Parts: sequence; structure tokens; C-alpha cells
Amino acid sequence: MLFYKYYFQMFVHFGKTEKLLNVYEDELISCDNCNETTVTYRIVQKYYQISGIPILPAEKYTGMSCDNCGYGSNNVISENAKTYEKLSKTPWYLYTGVAILIGTFLFYIIHAIYAAIIK
Ligand SMILES: [Zn+2]
Repeated sequence: MLFYKYYFQMFVHFGKTEKLLNVYEDELISCDNCNETTVTYRIVQKYYQISGIPILPAEKYTGMSCDNCGYGSNNVISENAKTYEKLSKTPWYLYTGVAILIGTFLFYIIHAIYAAIIK
């Protein structure tokens, strides 16, 4: 039993991963730390994956980093951040797992209906 457990863990990696959607350089906003206008925003999409295959998108977040002093944050909450997140669309392929699941389900339903009609 223990062997199977390790076997499963070796080949099936389930977890949350991040994908960088967009980078914005905002020259109107100054850094909280040094006040230079060298702030870069990163819009990041988290998603669930199994062995590298995207299953379902999770939350988005906006991170910032300052090119001048190196200050950074992974949790920017502002009107701008909300706008960036809206502009950065979730890629469709992050729904791959759900699509496969629905596809399989539909296949079996159609197959069952087809089989019923043929009889
Ligand atoms: Zn700075």
C-alpha cells in the first residue's frame, strides 16, 4: 500500500501554480519606499494543475516592484490594480482540466443516447 502511495505522489503532482499575465510600468505612481516613479506592476494568475496540466484558474493578484530600491509587494490593493486585473484576461487554456472533464461527461451521455436509439 505504501508503495502505491509513493508511486502516486511521484507521478501526480497536484498544486497551485502561478502564471504571469502582464507587466505594467506605471510612470505616474511613485514607490512607497523611495518615491521614485520606477514602479513595475505584475498581474499574476494562480491556477490549479495536475502534473503540469492546468485544471482550473484560481485568484488573480497584482504585485509591484521598484526598479530603483528593490522594494516589492505581492498584494497591491488599489483601483489601478483592479483595472490591471480586469484588463489581464484569464487564458482559456487554464480551463483544460474542466474542459476534459465536461468533454468526457458529454461523450458518455451522447454515447448512451446513441446506443439507446440504435437499439
Ligand atoms: Zn523604490
